[in-house]
Amino acid sequence: MKRIVLLLLGIAILAGAALVKPLPAVKTVKLNDRIYAMLGPEELPNEHNGGYMVNSTLILGDKGAIIVDTGFSDEVGVHIRNAAEKITKLPITHVINTHHHGDHTLGNIVFQGAEIVSSENCKKLVEDTGADWIAIAENAIGHKLPSTKPVPASRTYASQTHTQIEINGVKMELWVPEAAHTKGDLLIWLPDDKVLIAGDVLVNRVTPAFRDAEVRHWVETLAALQQYPARTIIPGHGPLMTMKEAKAMHKRMAAFYEGVEKVYKSGGSESDVRKKVSLKEWQRLKHFNEQMGGNINRTWLEVESANF
Ligand SMILES: [Zn+2]
Repeated sequence: MKRIVLLLLGIAILAGAALVKPLPAVKTVKLNDRIYAMLGPEELPNEHNGGYMVNSTLILGDKGAIIVDTGFSDEVGVHIRNAAEKITKLPITHVINTHHHGDHTLGNIVFQGAEIVSSENCKKLVEDTGADWIAIAENAIGHKLPSTKPVPASRTYASQTHTQIEINGVKMELWVPEAAHTKGDLLIWLPDDKVLIAGDVLVNRVTPAFRDAEVRHWVETLAALQQYPARTIIPGHGPLMTMKEAKAMHKRMAAFYEGVEKVYKSGGSESDVRKKVSLKEWQRLKHFNEQMGGNINRTWLEVESANF
């Protein structure tokens, strides 16, 4: 009897341990003495990656460090913070969120004491949809996140602004376009480093997600960002990019939007999009099957209301 109890206890401990299995390693790429890209897995959030699939950036200033994008939960936030603390002893004084999606903001909670920076719209969207994003994360990873709470920004920037600022001695331009991947994207240009941190306005090797996008504005934003003489681009998901790859994404997105519009204007229906618009280049991207139906639908509805 005693042995059975011990055996059951052992199984219970193992089951508990399975819940806290380690997250996939952070792939840290040093761009120069003060900028580190921290690249996450290229998958969708699932039980195996524990929701860790975002790219973050660590920027080292004179008096403190800055983290861009914090992961899908407090657990992922701690994972990213631990990776940052392996690189620097500087306190993390600022967190910048590139947009409101949970995989970029729900780790904010673990950066206590840091000033959170985002666009104005991002802040509103974190307040309005934070709870929904926690539910999305819990559903994807298969366990509850009792310690994850949405933490909106305390410093915000208005839509359609470019602001030059310095944080901890690091010069940066914060650009909030009208809309793109969401209505509250913020891109970070580091002029002295020639690095562009793009959030999900740019993603590499994976299918971009249109769920909250304004596709026409997104295409315009992709055209406008080519003005930055970037040596390296840190996308929201996937490996580091060059401007050549950013241009390719712009071309692919523009052709897609035009294609959908053409189908609409010639009296076709949403289901004609798959037959008439070439998706060959899209099919090479990861998660095409999971994302593209929703992307077509979102674009169709946008084209429909723009032409109504
Ligand atoms: Zn996103």
